[in-house]
Amino acid sequence: MTSPHMITVSRCDDGHRTHPVRRDCPACGADMHPVVIEGKGTVITWTRIERPPEGFKTPQLVVLVRLEAEREEKDPPVVLAAVADTTTKVECGNVMLIRDTQERYEAEPL
Ligand SMILES: [Zn+2]
Repeated sequence: MTSPHMITVSRCDDGHRTHPVRRDCPACGADMHPVVIEGKGTVITWTRIERPPEGFKTPQLVVLVRLEAEREEKDPPVVLAAVADTTTKVECGNVMLIRDTQERYEAEPL
């Protein structure tokens, strides 16, 4: 796995996934295990923050991305991420790649 666009989710043996990582599956109660997957999904909503906290660039673009479904998964996890390049034009339906910078999740268009 050489892509920088990898994130950690959790998965139970029945295939349910969550983000962030959880110990117990909210769908079936089974134990969950962390798994590293490609951080790729579709923007379901976004917002533009004009007055971010001191030390952040203005504006900040924040996207909510639904990860790609696995097999017949009905409700893939969603990830909240800041758009790395704040000049990016973002629309619902855009496919984004997400990486974990260890400080936050950053998204960029595919
Ligand atoms: Zn489960």
